[in-house]
Amino acid sequence: MKTLIEPFRIKMVESIRQTTEKERIEILKKADYNPFCIKAEDILIDFLTDSGTGAMSDRQWAAMMTGDESYAGSKSFFRFEKAVQNITGFTHIIPTHQGRAAERILFSVAVKEGDKLPSNTHFDTTRANIEFNKAEAVDMVIPEGKIPTLEHPFKGNMDLDRLSDFLEKYHENVPIGMITITNNSGGGQPVSMENIRETGRLLHKYEIPFFIDACRFAENAYFIKLREPGYQSKNVLEIAQEIFSYADGCTMSAKKDAMVNIGGFLAMNDDTMAMNARNLLILTEGFPSYGGLAGRDLDALAVGLEEVLHEDYLKYRLRTAEYMGERLTEAGIDIIRPTGGHAVYIDAKAFYPNIPASQFPGQVLCAELYRKGGIRGVEIGSVMFGRKNPNTGEEIPAEMELVRLAFPRRVYTQSHFDFAIESIIETYGEREKAKGLKITWEPPFLRHFTAKFGLVD
Ligand SMILES: *Cc1c(COP(=O)(O)O)cnc(C)c1O
Repeated sequence: MKTLIEPFRIKMVESIRQTTEKERIEILKKADYNPFCIKAEDILIDFLTDSGTGAMSDRQWAAMMTGDESYAGSKSFFRFEKAVQNITGFTHIIPTHQGRAAERILFSVAVKEGDKLPSNTHFDTTRANIEFNKAEAVDMVIPEGKIPTLEHPFKGNMDLDRLSDFLEKYHENVPIGMITITNNSGGGQPVSMENIRETGRLLHKYEIPFFIDACRFAENAYFIKLREPGYQSKNVLEIAQEIFSYADGCTMSAKKDAMVNIGGFLAMNDDTMAMNARNLLILTEGFPSYGGLAGRDLDALAVGLEEVLHEDYLKYRLRTAEYMGERLTEAGIDIIRPTGGHAVYIDAKAFYPNIPASQFPGQVLCAELYRKGGIRGVEIGSVMFGRKNPNTGEEIPAEMELVRLAFPRRVYTQSHFDFAIESIIETYGEREKAKGLKITWEPPFLRHFTAKFGLVD
């Protein structure tokens, strides 16, 4: 059979509300053309993020009923610990309320002022937590990873030559080396097993611990199965186990590949580091057997970690992004290629060649997709990453102007995707009519969340 179906049927439904284009034009104006300021009930298809937006299974909901809410040593904790250990093999498993809490604790115990932490690409919360500890986050993805239309099977790979030179020079100031799988900030691109192994080997030469930012480890493992020679006959669990075998620990946002709406963890082998991490955990997250979560959350997480490794799920998951990518490419729309695991990234600069970076083509595309189809995506370009010249106040544009459409897990069906594709293609047909945007108000930090925009006349 050629038709790939969603590997689930629907047992509970949530209505989504249709709005008219006229209503959406008004809503956009009221939201000052910032999709973050639109109410969720006014969105038809929400591709803002894949983080914490997934649908839990009947088995996860059932597991929640078995949650043990004992303050210390609950049964839920041991089920969670066993599920994480089965995949990662790490000795110490520390629950946290989400990924950035694991990052904050790890860097607080292991990083000091002036340190340097290499990674393929640090995710923005990771970078922020490193910088908060007055250390430097250094990105060294392979050059191919930065060219949007260039096809490469593992565009998330670490540049090993650069890492090797970097470590030779700075190893005394490197407390931890990291790799993000899949590489979220670089388009959800996978990292090869060989690259993970070699990154570990280079770090271990200097006895530097190797931590994996494991948010999308299952998607990455399935890409390895599909693309890396020698892994076709292995199952995804075995591949994931091999990935973690090269590392000394990991941070994880369970809101991604653990298929829950909230949760995360920090895991490691080092006893002293784990003791320090637990001491800090008690200070801000809670007792080490719940870490800011309810017992039932830990149970849902344990089941999610098992379900995410089902191959029919992963096949459908990766195919979804690939399918949308193919249809957009056929229509002449430039995207980051090949598509990654959790999202499609549209090149807004190519979409709107007449709108300069100073008028935020990515933000324009987000507004237009909402006007046309009630679809919400997020700008990853000069609004999110642009800087201002401190002397002249002039905007310095970002390297790329992208719009990310990220896909909640097990939430939307193929017809939702077909509808979204049609909306994007129609928006492309109307590209000549689109107007640029200007910022009318902005906060001092992380402006993309709350900035206000107006149409350029
Ligand atoms: C989401 C994410 C994080 C942070 O996790 P939160 O649960 O949002 O705090 C860290 N790294 C990567 C790669 C992510 O995608």
